[in-house]
Amino acid sequence: MSTYKAPLDDIRFVMFDLLQVESQYQRLAGGENATRDVIDAILDEAARFAEQVLAPLNASGDEEGCVLDKATATVRTPNGFKQAYAQYIDGGWSGLTAPEEYGGQHLPESIGAPLKELLDSANLSWGNFPLLSHGASEALRQHGEEWQRQAFLKPIVEGRWTGTMCLTESHCGSDLGLLKSRAEPQADGSYRITGTKIFITAGEHDLTENIVHLVLARLPDAPSGVKGISLFIVPKYKVNKSGQMGERNSVSCGAIEHKMGIKASVTCVMNFDGAEGWLIGPANRGLMAMFTMMNTARLAVGLQGLALIERGYQSSLAYARDRLQMRSASGAKFPDKPADPLIVHPDIRRMLLTQKAFAEGGRALGYYAATLVDVVERSGDADERKRADELLSFVIPIVKALLTEAANECAYHAVQIFGGHGYIRETGVEQFARDARITTIYEGTTQIQALDLLGRKVMQTQGVGLRHFLEEISAFCHAQAQNPGLIEFIAPLAIATKEWADLTQEIGKRALANPDEIGAAAVDYLFYSGYVALAYFWARSVAATEGSPQTAQFKQAKLLTARFYFARILPRTQTHAQTMRSGTDSLMTMSDAQFG
Ligand SMILES: Cc1cc2nc3c(=O)[nH]c(=O)nc-3n(C[C@H](O)[C@H](O)[C@H](O)COP(=O)(O)OP(=O)(O)OC[C@H]3O[C@@H](n4cnc5c(N)ncnc54)[C@H](O)[C@@H]3O)c2cc1C
Repeated sequence: MSTYKAPLDDIRFVMFDLLQVESQYQRLAGGENATRDVIDAILDEAARFAEQVLAPLNASGDEEGCVLDKATATVRTPNGFKQAYAQYIDGGWSGLTAPEEYGGQHLPESIGAPLKELLDSANLSWGNFPLLSHGASEALRQHGEEWQRQAFLKPIVEGRWTGTMCLTESHCGSDLGLLKSRAEPQADGSYRITGTKIFITAGEHDLTENIVHLVLARLPDAPSGVKGISLFIVPKYKVNKSGQMGERNSVSCGAIEHKMGIKASVTCVMNFDGAEGWLIGPANRGLMAMFTMMNTARLAVGLQGLALIERGYQSSLAYARDRLQMRSASGAKFPDKPADPLIVHPDIRRMLLTQKAFAEGGRALGYYAATLVDVVERSGDADERKRADELLSFVIPIVKALLTEAANECAYHAVQIFGGHGYIRETGVEQFARDARITTIYEGTTQIQALDLLGRKVMQTQGVGLRHFLEEISAFCHAQAQNPGLIEFIAPLAIATKEWADLTQEIGKRALANPDEIGAAAVDYLFYSGYVALAYFWARSVAATEGSPQTAQFKQAKLLTARFYFARILPRTQTHAQTMRSGTDSLMTMSDAQFG
């Protein structure tokens, strides 16, 4: 069974040397307390919690799963989960970045990014229990009424209650416009919520005294489609306007799903039978409020992808160093042993380096997105906030989809490196492959992220976020143009960014004549964008090694991994570019009947 070691050196490199968060935090509201000492202490303690408390529960949780007691409609989490959650609360982790007035520590959002990575690398299923509390508290903070904030936020921030996000219904997943759950207004200002939601993460569990569901439903006179959806807060135990918890609400878990992976994360069918709920934000504008929650959740799921890449890399690297099979083609590297370790073979190195390149590049990209959240929420400069917001909207679908797709690719490599031993349960890597599979599906599938990126974030805004990002890359290339250590990366990066802009224009023009062009290009466009974005962060990583206090070995490894990325991953953009340029014909000409 694999052990987990928090990659603190690289986390510190990305935060302090690459993103320079220390000086950035000092400019932001609430950031003045986020000194280097404080962040270092948080990282050390988070690493200890992840390695010693959560990681040992990962395989056992997968074996045990969650159990629904149908008589009481309650869910028992696997052994040890409850105690680990209690330690999480005692450690103050749940309120790390929440406002002080609700009991949080108000540290910048981006300090939450490494915490999320560490928890999920150690135990993705466990990490799903507190996951949606963050988004629920953000939605309440930004869109809730004062009494709702007072009544609900403190217990959520303190971790005594967790949040859920109830969107999906059996006939309505990606297309929320189809949802049918109803909300009837009551004389006291509350609503009665009726409907069945499926696939609800942490919809029922035994970790906390209350669970707060954020539910999308329709008012009686609501217009059809997405313009008629409202957001409601529906607690498992009713909560009055002074925040006191009362009797059981009529919402219950009817069944739990039996899944391919994340078996210890409970996925519930939730029945709302005239449950008491309260409207959050304006009527029929629920999707807008829910987007607040979805954005944080999408970034968090991108970080889940990163977490799994790192975990699979660590396991397969240890195995590749240990397992002896065949001799190196260029002569024995360990003549005293009966064979050489796997790590001498070129294709094993390809699979290891692919994982390393996605883990470290993905960390830079994911944490970068989190620093944009800091600026959006805490900068005193309105122009800076607006730019960061546009940039964040643009990068979120890339972070979510690219890192989760890469997690699946990397999990495949990790299992492959273990050979047959990877396919059996004992070594633990097959769990990472099963757990990774959901990450490209929930919180909006890869296809939905791709349509969001190309359709909404690029075409509908005339590419404002893309423009900011390209300007940022261009400024970097310009600043590093004379740096001999960077020359090998700057030229291909500049070529790729120009092609990115050209491709966007080409697709935009073709889409004017044929709207299917967007759907035909979207996923390739997303991968293309992601690979170029990672190239930028790899070039920045090399630049950041100059002046970094990391060891010479660490810096040399960054340079060599960057070279691998540019030689063997960035060229994938060419397949995607060619595919996008092929247009819709090869996809759309075949008739329904011709599919067979
Ligand atoms: C373990 C688990 C946990 C979950 N947790 C939650 C939760 O907490 N709360 C919640 O509300 N939901 C949750 N979900 C639901 C999840 O968000 C949905 O499964 C997801 O949004 C996809 O919806 P669907 O399954 O209905 O697929 P569909 O929407 O039916 O899509 C099927 C396929 O078609 C593709 N597709 C759809 N439309 C298009 C298009 N226009 N172009 C191209 N491709 C398209 C999709 O990408 C997908 O591949 C969870 C699901 C699972 C399995």
